[in-house]
Amino acid sequence: MRYLKLGSGNIDRFLERISNYGELYAPQKISEKFYDYRKVDDIEKVEFNYNRTITPAKKYFIPPKQEMFEFDIEEGEYEETLGEVKPFVLFGLHACSIVALRILDGVYLNEYPDKYYAARREAGIIIGISCLPDEYCFCNLRRTDFVDVGFDLFLHELPDGYLIRVGSERGHRIVDENMDIFENVDNEDIENFKKFEKKRHEMFRYEGSFDNLRYMLELTENSPLWEEESEKCLGCGNCTMTCPTCRCYDVQDLPDIDGKHGKRIRFWDSCQFRSHGLVAGGHNFRETKKDRFINRYVCKNAYFYPLGTSYCVGCGNCTYFCPAGIDFLKNLMKIRDVIGAVHGE
Ligand code: SF4
Ligand code: SF4
Repeated sequence: MRYLKLGSGNIDRFLERISNYGELYAPQKISEKFYDYRKVDDIEKVEFNYNRTITPAKKYFIPPKQEMFEFDIEEGEYEETLGEVKPFVLFGLHACSIVALRILDGVYLNEYPDKYYAARREAGIIIGISCLPDEYCFCNLRRTDFVDVGFDLFLHELPDGYLIRVGSERGHRIVDENMDIFENVDNEDIENFKKFEKKRHEMFRYEGSFDNLRYMLELTENSPLWEEESEKCLGCGNCTMTCPTCRCYDVQDLPDIDGKHGKRIRFWDSCQFRSHGLVAGGHNFRETKKDRFINRYVCKNAYFYPLGTSYCVGCGNCTYFCPAGIDFLKNLMKIRDVIGAVHGE
């Protein structure tokens, strides 16, 4: 891998330069408490130190609401409206967010590639940034706290700038075309990089592995925990909307008022909504709130085999943004103990 240094004095210039490669989006403070990815109109507003955003980076690849095509009912024809997706630069993704995009790749770019997702993925330049965990993060238990594939550039904080890893051909081209703002990495930078990594590891609340959780969940379907916790759930769907790997969508045809033309759209859906499991004939294959609640836990802890990790990257968003105060991680911990008790451990 190629390593370079971006000194503190060149950070603004770096942001200006990368905005030459496409419209720039980055985390920005949007209120007293919250951050979100927004289009960058002023580089001073780009936030380098944040823990989570209210909407995950998936929104740039699977927009919350997306037009798929227009149709003519009388002619029985349809017309693509995808068009050209202009290049854009997504700055400031944490390692877990980049792994989340790779998980989405596995879903959307498999043997039947989704052209809407593929076009946006191709157009998006990904620039990652290191972070320090807060009390909600458990990416270390998911092995997603460090990423080595899936970005063009990745910035690691140093006391006087950033150590940059170059992760793609596109990343090489960006640094080659802007070598005047980069320096070579020296021994002090390497020592500082090691210190940051050590500090980061020491800040995680929990250690260990969640590799066996999927099976524990399947084995504890009758645990009273599900009744108690799902009782508190409001079914609002915040947990899935803010989850960087949740990907369920609904598709609807919207006819124009003339009844002759219309649009097909798709939009984010949530397995926590009662309507999610409702099918023709009025049957609902997840009728109760408890069914829907358990489903999310089992789904997120199932394995994404190509990466050898679960569908949950341990970002903590679902807990942080849950209005009912339901703690996803604590519930997983409890499930581990329940199964421990079952086996008399
Ligand atoms: S965010 Fe909390 S209350 Fe809302 S659906 Fe998810 S678990 Fe239920
Ligand atoms: S399930 Fe929760 S902790 Fe896991 S990736 Fe989704 S939002 Fe993050």
